[in-house]
Amino acid sequence: MVTAKLRPSQVLINETAIAHNVQHAIAGLPQGTELFAVVKADAYGHGLLRVARIAQAAGATGFCVAILDEALALRRAGFTLPILVLGIIEPEYAPIAAANHIVVPVGSSEWLTQALPGLTSGRELPPLHVHLALDTGMGRIGFRQVTALNEAIAVIRAHAAQVKVTGLFTHFSTADDPDPAYFKMQVTRFHEFLDALPERPRYVHVANSATSLWHAACDGNLVRFGVAMYGLNPSGRAIDATPYPLEPALTLTSTLSFVKQIEAGEAVSYGATYHAAKPEWIGTVPLGYADGWQRRLQGFHVLVNGTECEIVGRVCMDQFMIRLPGKVKTGTPVVLIGRSGDQEITLQDVADYAHTIHYEIACGLTERLPRVSVAPFPAQA
Ligand SMILES: *Cc1c(COP(=O)(O)O)cnc(C)c1O
Repeated sequence: MVTAKLRPSQVLINETAIAHNVQHAIAGLPQGTELFAVVKADAYGHGLLRVARIAQAAGATGFCVAILDEALALRRAGFTLPILVLGIIEPEYAPIAAANHIVVPVGSSEWLTQALPGLTSGRELPPLHVHLALDTGMGRIGFRQVTALNEAIAVIRAHAAQVKVTGLFTHFSTADDPDPAYFKMQVTRFHEFLDALPERPRYVHVANSATSLWHAACDGNLVRFGVAMYGLNPSGRAIDATPYPLEPALTLTSTLSFVKQIEAGEAVSYGATYHAAKPEWIGTVPLGYADGWQRRLQGFHVLVNGTECEIVGRVCMDQFMIRLPGKVKTGTPVVLIGRSGDQEITLQDVADYAHTIHYEIACGLTERLPRVSVAPFPAQA
């Protein structure tokens, strides 16, 4: 995709905010517990390599990604810290993971059986490091029974030159829920697995951001720190209190590309769904749903000079229109996410209006929008 550098619409990334969130999280961890920065999906839309660099400088000792390609992108950029892929990779690509020292999850003996031939055939490969994935209630990937886990461990033991277990993990589906009942059930199941294990691997991990914030007592020596690194509350608005302030890192800005006055009754945008009630000043903002500013945001608002301006008419692919309080110059800044004057629009506000979660809004901002660093970390001399 073409990244639009010659257009005023930009995603600004506050590097210091990301660093502070990582540093605060690490400061609260028990001795010996590590933090891996979750940088999947282009670091939740914040920029993979930028965020990886900041997180490492702030004390992260590894990375989590969703897919093998993201892991390889980090390796190609020169990152040497451990990288864990969180999703099941295609067994045929296990040799690529091994060759690049990328750790992958194993959730079934079947996967091992399919991956082993590639890891065994001829070439000199380092052993593939794996983390055993346990499904304690997320229902996504992982072993669901102790017997199945033990079978897989036996297979791995028989192929010690090809596969080495360096971790064991599970994932909670309700760590951000004020009601702890389901979470507790998952913890219980996790302990059933742990108790049945002959020995604990190097890494045992259960914590995403929500678990690290609200269930700090959880077992494990590694936190998979994702959304909170970007300054977003994993629960949305469900749990207000966090042990340290989360600093949002992302701002979305543009400028007015066109301003005009229209007469009462005149319409704006596709479908002519909006008609001016009286003579109105209308501004055009050069970004649209192809940038991830969803079509359903019609009726929501943006900030111009600290004032809320309603999005009128349908959001187009590359532009949308707003009702201005009066005549405003073209080129005036427009804040879609972030602060303007004493007003603020958060990713959560956008998500609420779009009936989704901030995760989806953030990683839905497309590559056409350039990511520009502000407040660099480490601070430049
Ligand atoms: C995405 C993901 C995380 C990070 O979750 P956050 O809520 O963003 O902290 C952690 N673990 C797994 C398995 C994930 O898929």
